[in-house]
Amino acid sequence: SLSLAGKTALVTGGSRSIGAAIAKKLAADGAAVAITYSASPERAAQVVAQIEAAGGKAIAIEADAGSPEAVRAAVAETVSAFGGIDILVNNAGIAVNAPIEDMRFEDYERMLAVNVTGVFVATQEAVRHMKAGGRIIHIGSSMTRYAAFPTASVYTLTKGAITGFNRSLVRDLGPKGITVNTVHPGPTDTDMNPADGPVAAIVGPGMAIGRYGLPSEIASVVAFLASPDAAFVTGADIVADGGLTA
Ligand code: NDP
Repeated sequence: SLSLAGKTALVTGGSRSIGAAIAKKLAADGAAVAITYSASPERAAQVVAQIEAAGGKAIAIEADAGSPEAVRAAVAETVSAFGGIDILVNNAGIAVNAPIEDMRFEDYERMLAVNVTGVFVATQEAVRHMKAGGRIIHIGSSMTRYAAFPTASVYTLTKGAITGFNRSLVRDLGPKGITVNTVHPGPTDTDMNPADGPVAAIVGPGMAIGRYGLPSEIASVVAFLASPDAAFVTGADIVADGGLTA
């Protein structure tokens, strides 16, 4: 039987790239999956259609991760569509890179809103509905372990915030039977960080396995943490980075 049969999941930022791969993998493992999107409604509809074509269950919800009201509504819609929420994957994230002297305050605020406030609000609202066996999975970054290039200080600030949130949350959620973990991807071939883009030229030589990761290779780690097999794993930072930060 499928490891996530009967479970329901919400993946933020599931219209493209890593989030889309996570949504498809959780659905393939048996979960009913809600994805949120902001700028890419057509891509979100495609992900839903692909999941349905494979025999799975999915819905797409427009919800800017930087809007607390929209994020709360997305959790509520997931619960009303599927009858609950067992798995939350906080994947939506943005990176605006600039040298610290030039970082615009509005870009700082937007990164905090999407990468940190969005994660707090989604987590708080999901936990209010979660039963024992629940799973919270954050998407961090290998940049919290090794800053491979300049201009990403604020992005890394936001991902570092999630690392602290992750650790301390285990004390609140452990007694409820809910686990919380962070997957830290290394360079992964997506729209944000294409394998032939500017970051690749810098980090390429550091990739122990000699290549970028695939979104599906992050999704498989998330799926393990979402599964009943991972019940004893909580508060962990799971690095999937092809050895970049080893
Ligand atoms: P992409 O930019 O390729 O895709 C981002 C996804 O998040 C899209 O589905 C996008 O949806 C969604 N998203 C972005 N902003 C918002 C928002 N405000 N509200 C709702 N959804 C939003 O990113 P990746 O797939 O590469 O990254 C996914 C996560 O992994 C991020 O948290 C990122 O920081 C992290 N990460 C990525 C790495 C990499 O090398 N790729 C390495 C380490 C971490 P839409 O277009 O509909 O707005």
